[in-house]
Amino acid sequence: MNAVTQASNAHVPTVKLLIGGEFVESQTREWRDIVNPATQQVLARVPFATADEVNAAVRSAHAAFASWRNTPIGARLRIMLKFQALIRDNMSRIAKTLTAEQGKTLPDAEGDIFRGLEVVEHACSIGTLQQGGFAENVAGGVDTYTLQQPIGVCAGITPFNFPAMIPLWMFPMAIVCGNTFVLKPSEQDPLSTMQLVELAIEAGIPKGVLNVVHGGREVVDALCTHEDIKAISFVGSTAVGRHVHQLGTQHGKRVQSMMGAKNHAVVLPDANREQTINALVGAAFGAAGQRCMATSVVVLVGSSKDWVQELIGKAKALKVNAGHEPKTDVGPVVSRAAKARILGLIESGIRQGATLALDGRDVKVPGYEDGNFVGPTVFTDVTTDMDIYTNEIFGPVLVVLTAQTLDDAIAVVNANPFGNGVGLFTQSGAAARKFQSEVDIGQVGINIPIPVPVPYFSFTGSRGSKLGDLGPYGKQVVQFYTQTKTVTARWFDDATVNDGVNTTISLR
Ligand code: NAD
Repeated sequence: MNAVTQASNAHVPTVKLLIGGEFVESQTREWRDIVNPATQQVLARVPFATADEVNAAVRSAHAAFASWRNTPIGARLRIMLKFQALIRDNMSRIAKTLTAEQGKTLPDAEGDIFRGLEVVEHACSIGTLQQGGFAENVAGGVDTYTLQQPIGVCAGITPFNFPAMIPLWMFPMAIVCGNTFVLKPSEQDPLSTMQLVELAIEAGIPKGVLNVVHGGREVVDALCTHEDIKAISFVGSTAVGRHVHQLGTQHGKRVQSMMGAKNHAVVLPDANREQTINALVGAAFGAAGQRCMATSVVVLVGSSKDWVQELIGKAKALKVNAGHEPKTDVGPVVSRAAKARILGLIESGIRQGATLALDGRDVKVPGYEDGNFVGPTVFTDVTTDMDIYTNEIFGPVLVVLTAQTLDDAIAVVNANPFGNGVGLFTQSGAAARKFQSEVDIGQVGINIPIPVPVPYFSFTGSRGSKLGDLGPYGKQVVQFYTQTKTVTARWFDDATVNDGVNTTISLR
């Protein structure tokens, strides 16, 4: 989306850039409003940084790398220890900002921060995560060892739906590995991200090690093509993720793109009925369906098709309201444009012959008449060629399919191009084992609706949901943010017998 200059909003606060350790006002003429999706109140204005500002941020990261790469591990991890403590102390303050700018409920905003905090906690283990290997006596008097060295300036580009968790997937691990960083938060809701960045600076991250620029396509393209940037982490939509991956790799960078999804939940008739229906409703409509791991398709196998009315009943009972109101289940979607897109896809479902079994289009929220609300919506009689199945709706819309057997359900899931997450609901260990083995999706939940791995593992979306080999956070990201250097060394000893010139490739 393009920035707009709105002189009438000149009195609202502006979001700052972070360059060389200073929070600075952008000199740009392009600004965008940050809008509370429940009220349409303009909370702040975010700049679309100029080319000079992006260059200055990368330059400052490049200059800081020279000393940061040699900063002892203990010094790096102690900053992360302080950072995690500061995040805990400021959790409820940041959650309020996050709910105001993004729309999700306050408990879910705390969850967003907490899942990121777990990555910062894991970053404190860098002393063991960044160790190389050593083999003694690979030949006579010869040892081989590996170093995991930082790679330089890394960049991160983040989406609107997790403004705390996803930036925290990126910069803490990159920085604790000895790299420096340029973050480009979502232009839709950068305020909570910036509160976390302020805490990172307060925790002691030195000048230039962490930098922030704001903007849209032009800023992202400048980062993807900048000669001093070595690696790019992207999380966002599939279209933009492909673009970033292509542009970044063309310019010689490591790129990981975590992209869109269509996550299925397969339900077998032997599943615990109440637990399963609760899990499906929570995973489909929580965060108004705006999670990359949201359940957006349910496949009811065999007689579990009879559960659909109960599922619809529970969906209907969810409370739609502003995210800061107590007991809200479903907040507004992030913007008017997002709402219009979701309503357009619902229209297409009706047009293409699906049954609109629960219609959330006309939900009314007293006191928040201007909010971007869409109530829980359920489609049945859906076929896999319909737009509501082939597109990521990214709203509170659940599509229900049926299948005769587990094999049929697995075939449906595997035919879908996306590969982020999938769930199976069953009491059968044998069915679960078959499912985890045969389903071609990167993250599998067994009676778990949103199987986002904790940071001791890595986020492992696959196929159409991911480009690049290594995932964010966990052990994989240490590989992503480091270059392995292998050293083979022999130290001559006066007493060693000199066995002459060796013209072969073999080590002796
Ligand atoms: P988006 O692709 O619109 O934006 C992501 C980032 O890219 C933002 O920082 C934005 O400024 C930038 N951007 C937008 N348009 C651009 C363009 N034309 N060129 C270059 N950069 C551009 O995504 P979003 O709407 O903010 O986030 C929702 C999407 O993110 C969904 O598709 C969701 O599935 C996906 N997502 C994926 C994961 C995952 O781990 N796979 C996690 C969270 C969100």
